[in-house]
Amino acid sequence: MKLFLFSFLLLSTINSFANSTGQLYYNGAILTLDKKGTVAESVYVEDGKIIEVGTNEKLSKKFNNKSIEKIDLNGKTMSPGFIDIHSHFMNALRITEWANLSAPPVGPVKTIDDIIKVLKEHKSKGKIKDGEWIIGYGYDENFLEKPLTKFDLDKEFPNNPILILHVSNHGAVLNSLALKFFNITKDTPTPKGGLISRVAGTKEPEGLLMETAFIKVFANLPQPSEEELLKKLDQAQQLYAKEGYTTVQEGATHANELKLLKKGASTQKIYLDIVSLPLITEVPILISEYLGNPSDKQNLLDKLPKEFGKYNNNLKIGGIKIAIDGSPQGKTASFKDELKTLGPNGEKHWKGEKLLDQKSLNELYKKLVKNNIKVWTHANGDNGIDMIIEAVKYSGGKKGDGRRDIVIHSQIMHPYQLDEYVKLGLSPSFFTNHVFFWGDVHVKNLGKTLASYISPMKSAKEKGLIGTNHTDFSITPLNPFMTMWTATNRVTRSGEVLGEKERVTNLDALRAITSNAAWQLGEEKTKGTIEVGKIADFVILNENPLEIPKEKLLDLKVIETIKNGKVIYKK
Ligand SMILES: [Zn+2]
Repeated sequence: MKLFLFSFLLLSTINSFANSTGQLYYNGAILTLDKKGTVAESVYVEDGKIIEVGTNEKLSKKFNNKSIEKIDLNGKTMSPGFIDIHSHFMNALRITEWANLSAPPVGPVKTIDDIIKVLKEHKSKGKIKDGEWIIGYGYDENFLEKPLTKFDLDKEFPNNPILILHVSNHGAVLNSLALKFFNITKDTPTPKGGLISRVAGTKEPEGLLMETAFIKVFANLPQPSEEELLKKLDQAQQLYAKEGYTTVQEGATHANELKLLKKGASTQKIYLDIVSLPLITEVPILISEYLGNPSDKQNLLDKLPKEFGKYNNNLKIGGIKIAIDGSPQGKTASFKDELKTLGPNGEKHWKGEKLLDQKSLNELYKKLVKNNIKVWTHANGDNGIDMIIEAVKYSGGKKGDGRRDIVIHSQIMHPYQLDEYVKLGLSPSFFTNHVFFWGDVHVKNLGKTLASYISPMKSAKEKGLIGTNHTDFSITPLNPFMTMWTATNRVTRSGEVLGEKERVTNLDALRAITSNAAWQLGEEKTKGTIEVGKIADFVILNENPLEIPKEKLLDLKVIETIKNGKVIYKK
């Protein structure tokens, strides 16, 4: 035993010698984002932690040790590593195998013919044989001459099952073979909170499935093996690292996906910090997978908290995700008033969809609060947001209770709802990229006034809320500078300014993906700013986002990404 202890001590001493070499970054514009907004010149890092921040002169004198690594920033800008506060990491594992059917500037698709052309190229490039699945993503009927149906796909692809993901990720268009695979026929009833588009005047499915009608289909889509997916973990993390992210989110995790992430973590394949939000609907499976078969089904949620809130090999379960509604561009968000246009299947007096009723939400929410589990709700429409407010009231939540529950998207809303957030201690994660991608569509569906208040970042700040901003990748590109550009400019595809009053400063747009995001994760003591004692998560940029005009934010480039003091991406 003594011998063992001795060799252990010896080993750890050797290790600490090996790691004691620090890194001195100097000659930069280091945006610390501390309370005073200090811009430093130099930062010294040891063992992945920030030891000192200050001027070139002070740090070069203090850390004059020859054995340390000295890195000249050459006047470049260093920011805290970006925190992706809402996206879908699992999509990064798959997206490289899917056909990009997005409208410009994300993809090449302007017509149905373009869709067919891209799918044909995808099939031949990927050597996809007859009988094998073809998956596409980014489908957006708003920018096509007409909605895509199974007939468009059947004509050219009679021998491959096809699933085309809707750009909201809350639906898909399937061809006949794919509908047959999932046994969706004229006799399939439309589930509550879902939509099965039918051929006019008949019950025959036309191809589009949304929300609850889509969720099961997507979950049962044939998957690559666990082994294949594990091999892709590096490639997926690099997609994020390349954009300067050091902490990322898996924002709607199924049980099998959590299992995969856990396997990746336990085999040291995860080097970014990944925050996983298991879906509430997966809780029963999670319990039986990880905590043994519970005899008491009523208390499922009581058994989870041990698993929450701490990183384990860079993977953390950050709370539970509850989706309340769909998406505004897919017209499946839950709205208080009727849309000014018809519903997704031509419905009149359309107010969108909600995925569960108020009573069920209230009970779920109360249970999560009782068990001290952080709740991340998804709500896009003003009625969906009202439902969350109601549920938090029912569960007794209030400002200062330390919960920091997050309302992801918080898009179509009203000033009184922000006031309720303040009272109840709710925190919004906005999605200003919508202004660019679907701002014009929202004006048509909702009218100018309501559409202009979408993702009200400035009002939220003025009311004292700590808000963030996200990409919801793969809904919009991972590019963090796009979130900054849309938050500060609020320009639509057609070049209109939407909600000028809600424009924020470059600094606030940067805080929304760094310090504020760290706060929403409950990690503000270790991340989000460049201050002594915090983790050395940095991104080096070609220009200073606080000095360039807001119109130029999209020109920013990531030069290097550093996680725990180690370079994980270099341009
Ligand atoms: Zn999402």
